[in-house]
Amino acid sequence: MTEKQQKIVSKYAGRCHLCHGDIPVGAEIWWEPGGYGATHIECQSKEDARPWDRIRKLAVAMREFGAAYDRYHPVRHECEAAQVSLDSNERHLVGLTENGQKVDDHTIQSIQRDRDRLAVAQPEADRLQPEYDRLKAELQALLAEYKLDPKDEDAARRIAWEKEV
Ligand SMILES: [Zn+2]
Repeated sequence: MTEKQQKIVSKYAGRCHLCHGDIPVGAEIWWEPGGYGATHIECQSKEDARPWDRIRKLAVAMREFGAAYDRYHPVRHECEAAQVSLDSNERHLVGLTENGQKVDDHTIQSIQRDRDRLAVAQPEADRLQPEYDRLKAELQALLAEYKLDPKDEDAARRIAWEKEV
């Protein structure tokens, strides 16, 4: 059971988050707002009695977030690097023009190369962003549930490691 869960009488028919079985109107349930939803009282008791399953859940979330991080960050870094280079080259081009100097091929080519890099990396980064954000939020919610500092991923890794999950 999490701190946010409260015991209520179900006003609506629904589905148990743990066993996916029906919850009829008028049943006493554990309820957690914010997407987690409802669980049968007996399903939650069983869940609470199985702490290693929850630690396994944390380990899985860490692994999934780690993989998403490895996919997302190099692409986002490429966007930022290309943008910095593009800004710099465009400033250089403006400087040449303002000073009445000849615009050299090298500057034009560099700007085109930066734009090409961005055209490849930007859509890819935008595509990966929602999954990255979702897995990060899930991991942070689990870390909070375990009363671990969201920044202290080492602690979570240590727990996962010690329990050999
Ligand atoms: Zn259930």
